[in-house]
Parts: sequence; structure tokens; C-alpha cells
Amino acid sequence: MKTIGVLTSGGDAPGMNAAIRAVVRTACESGMTVYGINRGYQGLIDEDIRELNIRSVSDIIHRGGTMLYSARCLAFKEEEGMQKAIATCKKFGIEGIVVIGGDGSFRGARDLSLRGIPCIGVPGTIDNDIVCSDYTIGYDTCLNTIMDMVDRLRDTVESHSRCMVIEVMGNRCGDLTLNSGIAVGATAIVIPEIHSDVEKHVIERIRRTQKTDKKHFIIMVAEGIGGVAELAKKIQNECGVESRSMVLGHVQRGGSPSARDRVMASEMGYHAVQLLMKGIGNRVVVIKDDKMIDLDIYEALNMKKPVDETLYKIAHEISI
Ligand code: ADP
Repeated sequence: MKTIGVLTSGGDAPGMNAAIRAVVRTACESGMTVYGINRGYQGLIDEDIRELNIRSVSDIIHRGGTMLYSARCLAFKEEEGMQKAIATCKKFGIEGIVVIGGDGSFRGARDLSLRGIPCIGVPGTIDNDIVCSDYTIGYDTCLNTIMDMVDRLRDTVESHSRCMVIEVMGNRCGDLTLNSGIAVGATAIVIPEIHSDVEKHVIERIRRTQKTDKKHFIIMVAEGIGGVAELAKKIQNECGVESRSMVLGHVQRGGSPSARDRVMASEMGYHAVQLLMKGIGNRVVVIKDDKMIDLDIYEALNMKKPVDETLYKIAHEISI
């Protein structure tokens, strides 16, 4: 393979830039031509493409977001859009693509691979919701951002003996909520994988803790559960503690990537190019049991990820 492309797609995540940098430099060092495709699959349809060299990716390893921009591109899901994307690859001589994104982006990568453009997926999403991988680029940075913000909230919550109900990102996956909840010492952690009767669970936790003379409470709720304002009202009425709610929102996505995300992104980007150089496509680079491996995209998308029940049990026991 002589010419490859790289794109970032779906939700942005800190560390995507480090992955782009690794892809570009690994490929350039092997004598390949690399095209940066802007705004995910939209850039392939619109021919929004430029050649990148070793210096094009200078000074980005420490930056959040993505220098290639990201987009959600509905046109790419239609055969017409897909064919336009393939025509663009042919026009620029792009023989393979590294796709940095989430599982939606990997479905697109699989469709392109099946149509003759080998793609390698690199998991980049703050939610850690790529079932096939124990780790996704951006997760560690996001976790630390949440921890930092909640530590600040805790100062004021403690001073006023209040309860703060906080919504954390992660629609279907409670990893961010569970791990940040442990890290900030939350009284209750509510995640979609475990909870159905949210109010009952949270009120029981607070009442139990009130008996030990605790006067301030942090409640962490995953985005997929929602309803934090209503939950705060309910807590105030039922537990007699002044309660507020807060949705942390998009600030969780930003910021300079952590060392772990930079290193992981660099390794994954390197590994992805090694596969393309061997002419291998339709794979996703993942971390399994602390090892970097690659899996068939189709297989990877159909795997199931159980919630870490031991971790949840620990949180439940020590958050008193
Ligand atoms: P993420 O990659 O973070 O999961 P999305 O689910 O929004 O984000 O997917 C990103 C993009 O990937 C979509 O906008 C679309 O262009 C492409 N994509 C998603 N699902 C499919 C699919 N089933 N087939 C083809 N392309 C898809």
C-alpha cells in the first residue's frame, strides 16, 4: 500500500490528535503518502482532503479535539454517499483508511472495507463504550476532568451541607459514572446497566448515610438515566436536605489529553498503519487484558461487555 487516508468521526475525544500524529508519522516514515480527510466521512463525500506530512502534525499531541474535525454524516449511510466516498478514494489513490472514532464509525469502516477500501478502526471515544476494547482513547482524560470538576463542586456542597446530583456522559455505558463516582467518593452511583428503580435506590443510600451523621452528598448519574433535576427535588422532599442538580455536559469532552491517552493513541495509531502496510483491512485495534490486538470489525461490533460488578460492589460498600 502506497497511499492511505486518516479521518476522525463521531464524538470527538482527547487523544484523537495523538492518534492522527502517530498514523501520519508511521506512514510517512515508511514512504507512504498520507491524506487527512476533514469532518469524518463527510470529507470523503465532499473531497475535503489534504496531504499531510511529518511536520503537518507538529504541536498537536497535547491538544484536545481533533485537527481533522469530526462530523456525523448521514449521507454516508446511504449507498449513493458510500459510492461517492469510494470515488473520492479512487481519485486520490487512497488504498486504505485509518478511522478513529466510535462504533458507528466502525460500521462505516466495515462497509467501506467490504467495498474494496480496507479500513482499520482505532477506538476514540470518551465513553469507553466500544464493547470489544477494554480501553478507548479519551476515556482517561475525561475521567480525570470529571473528577476535577466534582472535587470543586464538593467544596461548596460540603460548606452548605447540600446534596448535588450530577449527570455524567455515557449514554449506554456507565463506566465513566462508576469510575468517577468511586474517585470522588459519591454516596450513590446510578448506571443504566444496573438500576431500574433509581429514586428508591438513591433515597435509601442517602437515608442510610444520614444515620452515620453525614450532611453532604454527591450523587453521580449516567446520562442514559437522565432526570437529575427531578431526582434532586425528590431527594429534597424525602430526605430533608437542600438539593441541586447539574449536567456536566460538553466540558467533559475537552482538554489536553492525559499521558495515558497520548501513549495509548500513539500505540494504536502505529499498530493501525502496520496492518494497512500488510494489506490487512476490516480490523479494529483494541486493548484486551492489557495487550494490544486487532479483531475483525464485524465480530468486534457484536461482542457484549458486562458491567464490572465487583467494582460496583466495592463502590456500594465503601461509599458511606
Ligand atoms: P461514533 O463513531 O462516535 O459511534 P456515530 O454513531 O455518530 O458516532 O457514527 C459516526 C458516523 O459513522 C456517522 O455519522 C456515519 O457517517 C457513520 N456510520 C454510523 N453508523 C453507520 C452504519 N450503520 N453504516 C455506515 N456508516 C455509519
